[in-house]
Amino acid sequence: FEVHQMMLEDDDYNDSVKNIITSQGLNAEYAVATTGDNFSTMFAAMDDEYFQARAVDVKDISERIINILMGIGEATVSDEPSIIVAEDLAPSETVQMDKSKLLGFVTRLGSSNSHTAILARTMNIPALIQVDIKEEWNGKQAIIDGFSGKFIIEPEADVLEEYQKKQAEQQERRRLLAEQKGKPTVTKNGKAIKLFANIGSVSDLQSVMENDAAGIGLFRSEFLYLESDAYPTEEEQFKAYKMVAETMAGKKVIIRTLDVGGDKEIPYLALEKEENPFLGFRAIRLCLKREDLYRPQLKALLRASAFGQIKIMIPMVTCIEEIREAKALIEEIKKELDEKGIAYNKEIKVGIMVETAAASLMADVFAKEVDFFSIGTNDLTQYTLAIDRQNEKLDEFYNPHHEALLRMIQMVVDNAHKCGKWAGICGELGADPTLTEQFVRMGVDELSVAPSMVLKLRKIVREMNKAEK
Ligand code: PEP
Ligand code: MG
Repeated sequence: FEVHQMMLEDDDYNDSVKNIITSQGLNAEYAVATTGDNFSTMFAAMDDEYFQARAVDVKDISERIINILMGIGEATVSDEPSIIVAEDLAPSETVQMDKSKLLGFVTRLGSSNSHTAILARTMNIPALIQVDIKEEWNGKQAIIDGFSGKFIIEPEADVLEEYQKKQAEQQERRRLLAEQKGKPTVTKNGKAIKLFANIGSVSDLQSVMENDAAGIGLFRSEFLYLESDAYPTEEEQFKAYKMVAETMAGKKVIIRTLDVGGDKEIPYLALEKEENPFLGFRAIRLCLKREDLYRPQLKALLRASAFGQIKIMIPMVTCIEEIREAKALIEEIKKELDEKGIAYNKEIKVGIMVETAAASLMADVFAKEVDFFSIGTNDLTQYTLAIDRQNEKLDEFYNPHHEALLRMIQMVVDNAHKCGKWAGICGELGADPTLTEQFVRMGVDELSVAPSMVLKLRKIVREMNKAEK
């Protein structure tokens, strides 16, 4: 609105109004309307999207002056909370609306860069633009789904109920955000736990920031491969990893190397069909046999490590040789980079996922050779309980709370600690709020969960006292 004030003081604008009045002998309302039209056409014709969007602002101030000159009052919202459906809304109209009565707005015109849209976002009001609006909607019940851009008129009862539930969840999230954001994840008696987020691609970063995760505990790098039609080059991978490292600005970023196989098929890899893909040629097994795939990824990771706190995590480990081979490969690539004078973090940490029974039973041995453990409870559950995680018929048997799993987690944590290493959980179980307190008591050092779960778990941790196991 300061910009609006400046526009009103603009000499060119005022000279144009005065000139129309004096030279053409027309009234002030006409002079302002014509000047407003001319200036907004000028802005709309500019190349820069930002200036194009300012066309609406010139129109807005002009219309407000005309209303004042003509003695017309400002637009108001009706007494009942309502959705405003309009041809267009000027920023000044939007900001003057009584927010307690404004449920949202839908306009036929408008751009996502306009100040009206910016105001809507700031005021947290759901808004849709460029909707083919209809007169007959007047007075009807409707839902604005600001996430998917849907406008549902006269929703069925079940749809209404579903959206009311979503709305309640959203409100709960906002409440949590306001209450927990920026606070440390520490129990009442001072035990701190790392609360990290899981991501599948660079586009998930926004959600990580919004939910205030302290780092990334699992970047499923295979999604980079799944998203593209051809093997992502070292350079493409480097760019993605660098961006994550830079965006996280010094916070830890644990990137898991390619975990393909199982349910994650990549057509261009043309892998042979297997009878039991989850027990097959998967993850580290495949990578160590296909250095043509693995080397570029490791090289990209090492190069990106110069830009932040990247750590490398190896999936589906079952034996010590796999760890040694992968680490030897990393050392070889480090030498290559040294020879070429390419920067990387020489102290880069290498950890493993614990998601096979073998890895958890061998945790005391593996802990001596790795920097950290991250327990993948999704696979650990399926391999320990012999239950295909994909088979919905087995859902009733898929019990990640099984005592066997909890014992394994305890073993892994204890063996990590004996060697001065840390252990976290990055499988879905890590986000189970009914177990958060137990995990803290078990000594789990890190929980890496879906970004949307971070603040909920933080609240639980902050409200508990850590007693001994
Ligand atoms: C896991 O197995 O728990 C895990 C985190 O990895 P993914 O779900 O990608 O197999
Ligand atoms: Mg897994």
